[in-house]
Parts: sequence; structure tokens; C-alpha cells
Amino acid sequence: MTASRGYAAQSATAPLGPFGFERRALRPRDIRIEIAFCGVCHSDLHQTRDEWGGSIFPMVPGHEIVGRVTAVGADVTKFKSGDIAGVGCMVESCRKCENCLDGQEQYCTPGATFTYNSRADGGTTYGGYSNDIVVDEAFALTIPANLDLAGVAPLLCAGITTYSPLRHWNVKAGQKVGVVGLGGLGHMALKFAKAFGAHVVQFTTSTNKIEDAQRLGADEVVLSNDAAAMKAQAASFDFILDTVSAPHDLGAFLGLLKRDGTMTLVGVPDKPPVVHPFALIGARRSLAGSLIGGIAETQEMLDFCGTHGITADIEIIAMDQINTAYERMLKGDVKYRFVIDLATL
Ligand code: NAP
Ligand code: ZN
Ligand code: ZN
Repeated sequence: MTASRGYAAQSATAPLGPFGFERRALRPRDIRIEIAFCGVCHSDLHQTRDEWGGSIFPMVPGHEIVGRVTAVGADVTKFKSGDIAGVGCMVESCRKCENCLDGQEQYCTPGATFTYNSRADGGTTYGGYSNDIVVDEAFALTIPANLDLAGVAPLLCAGITTYSPLRHWNVKAGQKVGVVGLGGLGHMALKFAKAFGAHVVQFTTSTNKIEDAQRLGADEVVLSNDAAAMKAQAASFDFILDTVSAPHDLGAFLGLLKRDGTMTLVGVPDKPPVVHPFALIGARRSLAGSLIGGIAETQEMLDFCGTHGITADIEIIAMDQINTAYERMLKGDVKYRFVIDLATL
């Protein structure tokens, strides 16, 4: 075991503060990463405040991790000391079930081990709001050298969570695609849907994000609380990705899908939505969901970002600014992802 330092929530109502804990000793296929940057995902906020239930405290959040490899186990082949590596939302899975064998470890039948807030080896996993992490090389990612490292961190969750459904539902040129919510996930969805060649409509509740949405590549921007603007988009979309973190009316967006269109939820508000069957059956529409992405697809996404020069738009913060950052994220006051500089820990 080695001593690590991080920031933890001690309960669902306590602010995050300094916390000392231990990482496991290196196993033959483990690497140790000295964390340089960690993105701040809305899932961190949901879980530290126990909005989904079942949170384990103390909790060190953080699953958008990039840094430098400082030690490798005897059997490691993918990395050597000094390499840059990333870790996303998962650190282990059963590796044997149908889903794992298909490279969809996030859907592991007995359950993947998540980077934090998971039970493993008789203990609890601790995430990337910390100085280092120990992980099996199978769950570590290679980072394209040409990208700004801080801007890469959010790709490990916000990036793959939006890339994966856009790929799975085969978003491409000639399609009209909607992105609901312009936050950490939403701005990545917008970048990817544009890179895949679709006509992209960004939905937002924030008038102060309209210009940004255009700068980020949106072909159209619609204020979702403008009834007339919403009506003008009726029954015209092939695919809509909903990234919203708070309860909202799904029916208003389902009605924008064409016949056989799909709306996929990646946002996970604290309360379940109400959906009237008529919103679906009238045009054989589908309502679906998607969870992050597998390790192979995460690597594919990172390589795609390297080729196309895609990173997140970020605001770097010091570790001790995390509680203020959570309050600002709740108000939609982040463009478009906070990233913690762990040198400030
Ligand atoms: P975020 O940066 O806070 O963005 C959420 C966006 O939702 C906001 O920027 C805002 O966009 C919109 N929004 C917030 N409150 C709203 C409301 N009351 N009504 C309508 N729109 C509202 O959050 P994030 O990090 O992108 O995460 C988004 C959600 O995805 C969270 O629930 C998170 O837990 C979940 N998530 C899921 C997965 C997965 O695997 N499925 C992975 C990561 C995160 P506008 O200002 O543009 O309206
Ligand atoms: Zn996340
Ligand atoms: Zn499995």
C-alpha cells in the first residue's frame, strides 16, 4: 500500500475537503499514474450529494483522469514510466461475460468496478481528485501526443459518453441531429456530431450560450423554452441526444423526432421522467439510454480526437475551488468543463 492524498466528501451534505488514504501495492499488470488533471463531471456532484442513492463515503470523486506513468508492474506491456496515460469511469470488470467479451465492459453483467464510489477488493475505489491512481493497464488509455492534456481529461467521460451513442445510432452526413443541454457532455456531443457530418441543432435553456453554440459548430440553436421555436422543429429529427442533468419534459423533445427517430438519454437527473406513450407510438419513435463506452471504443474516440484536433473547452481550477465549482456547475456557469490542476493539491 502507498499513501495518497485527495479531496473527499465525508457525507452527502458536507463540502469536499482534504483526505488521506491508501492505494494498493502494484500488481504485475498495474500502473501508477501521477495525476496531472482531472475533469469535473456532473456525475461527481450527483454522487457526492447521494442524488442517485447508494453513495459510499468518504468519496473521492473524479473519473476524467490524465497524468504521467510513474511505475509499472512486472508484466505491463502497454505503458512504461514517463508515458502519458488516462483513466475514465471504469477500473475493472469481470472480463468473462458476454458484454465484456464484446468490449462493452460498462455493461458487465455482474457489474463493472467504477473508478470511484464502487466496492472492490473489500474496500472502496477512490477517484481522480487525488495525486495518483493505481490501475490495471487494461483499463488505462493512451493519449494522443498532439492534444492539450488538460483539454483531454474531459474526453475520458464527457467525450466517450457522447461519442459512443452517436456512433451506435450511426449519426452521419445527411442527418438532422439534436443535442439537448450545452454543458460538459453537450458541448462534446455538438463537436462529435459535427465531426461526423450531421446537421446539428443545439437546444439550450441559456440565452448566454447561443453565440458559443454557433462558435462550437451548431448549424442552428434553439431556446428550448421558446414554444414557437420548438414547434418549428416538429417531427424533423433523425436522432436527439439528451444530456440534461435535471428533470425536464422529455415529451417536448420526443415530438421533434421524425418517424422511426430515436432520442437517447445520457443525462441522469435525480428523479425519473414521465413519458406519455402517445409521444412514441404516433411516429414509431424510440426512447433509449446509453452508459459511457467500452475501453476499446474509448481508445478509438481518443485517437479520433487526436486526428481531428478535438478537445474539451475548459476552465482550469485549483483543488480548493472544487466546492465553488460545483455551485457554478449547478447554475450552468461553466464553459464548458471545469478541470482540476492537481499540482494545486
Ligand atoms: P453539466 O455540465 O452540468 O451540463 C448539464 C446541462 O443541462 C446544463 O449545462 C444545462 O444546459 C442543462 N440543464 C441543467 N439544468 C436544466 C434544467 N433544469 N432544465 C433544462 N436543462 C437544464 O453536466 P454534464 O457533466 O454534462 O452531465 C450531464 C448529465 O449526464 C448528468 O446528469 C450526468 O450525471 C450525466 N452523465 C451520464 C453519463 C452516462 O454514461 N450516461 C456519463 C456522464 C454524465 P443549458 O444551459 O444549455 O440548458
Ligand atoms: Zn462523468
Ligand atoms: Zn463482465
